[in-house]
Amino acid sequence: MVFGAGSLRHLPRELELFGARRALVLSTPGHSAAAEGLVRDLGGRAAGVFARALMHVPLEMAREARTQAARLHADCLVALGGGSTTGLAKAIALESGVPIIAVPTTYAGSEVTPIYGLTEGGVKRTGRDARVLPRVVIYDPELTLDLPLRLSITSGMNAIAHAAEGLYARDGNPLTELLAEEAIRCVAGALPSLHASPRDLAARTQALYGAWLCGTVLGTVGMALHHKLCHTLGGSFALPHAEVHAVVLPHAIEYNAAAAPQAMSALARALRSEAPARALYALARTHGAPYSLRELGMRAADLDRAAELASADPYWNPRPIERSAVRTLLQHAWEGTPPG
Ligand code: NAD
Repeated sequence: MVFGAGSLRHLPRELELFGARRALVLSTPGHSAAAEGLVRDLGGRAAGVFARALMHVPLEMAREARTQAARLHADCLVALGGGSTTGLAKAIALESGVPIIAVPTTYAGSEVTPIYGLTEGGVKRTGRDARVLPRVVIYDPELTLDLPLRLSITSGMNAIAHAAEGLYARDGNPLTELLAEEAIRCVAGALPSLHASPRDLAARTQALYGAWLCGTVLGTVGMALHHKLCHTLGGSFALPHAEVHAVVLPHAIEYNAAAAPQAMSALARALRSEAPARALYALARTHGAPYSLRELGMRAADLDRAAELASADPYWNPRPIERSAVRTLLQHAWEGTPPG
């Protein structure tokens, strides 16, 4: 882990420590100029750029990137971007074992998890594999200064969701609980400052540090109803990833509140509120994040099917998954009513 403002300058040193001589730099199309700039800076250590990463890692795109990595004899992947770019690097590493250096620019947290996802025919499949866990992460808050405000808030809520569900994970332990509580405190504390001043480097640093902790929780323990719902809504209804997390999280926490009192106490401490679900709702809404599935473009007619899909083959959850209660949760999330 290399953390701190300006730490991208340590990338050449990290490549050298690997003995890497042919790094392939990955990014989304929106970040291609930064990726190409990085290749220029790396000079002889870079083999090329693949700047076509897309959300949820479509298999076709992953195949093209794998082919390019093989053609260029890439010996290291540098993922410059958010969860979509890290996800593409993971898809390449899953087959080839080529090591990843992740340079995250959002708060998604994928850079510290062994979790990968691939989407084929509209169906996303996820798995865990040690080969996809980045070997080095360079956290440079300066790279997040221009992350659009709305995405900063929703991505922060995405990060908080990992830690919040980590608090009631079946396989949690005292260490992950400590991490999760501190993670939520950091990210939730940074969002109002980012909202007031998106280029505030101290707030960006705090948010990125919190995102590191949140991602570590995600990579260590199992997730529950909230992640199942977001996976379903993102995967089967093509709703945007971070926004869906921001909308659903308060309702999923409300659903689980009575069944996870210890987790709620930790959340209450981290959010400085006796009503954590409401506090999460207010945190998102007052800082400009979407708060209803309706405004994300979901159709009311799809709620029944979403409840069906989210209740089928459920992840473990502290409160049993009841289809009708999940349908009610989704109705509230669709309307955007405050929980509780
Ligand atoms: P993203 O990577 O899709 O990025 C969203 C948009 O923001 C892109 O257009 C990107 O170019 C732009 N962007 C990113 N950083 C920027 C910056 N600093 N400045 C300006 N623009 C910037 O979004 P995300 O929310 O980070 O990632 C979502 C994806 O990550 C989903 O597919 C999700 O499933 C996956 N994910 C995976 C894990 C895991 O552990 N495997 C964890 C979290 C998320």
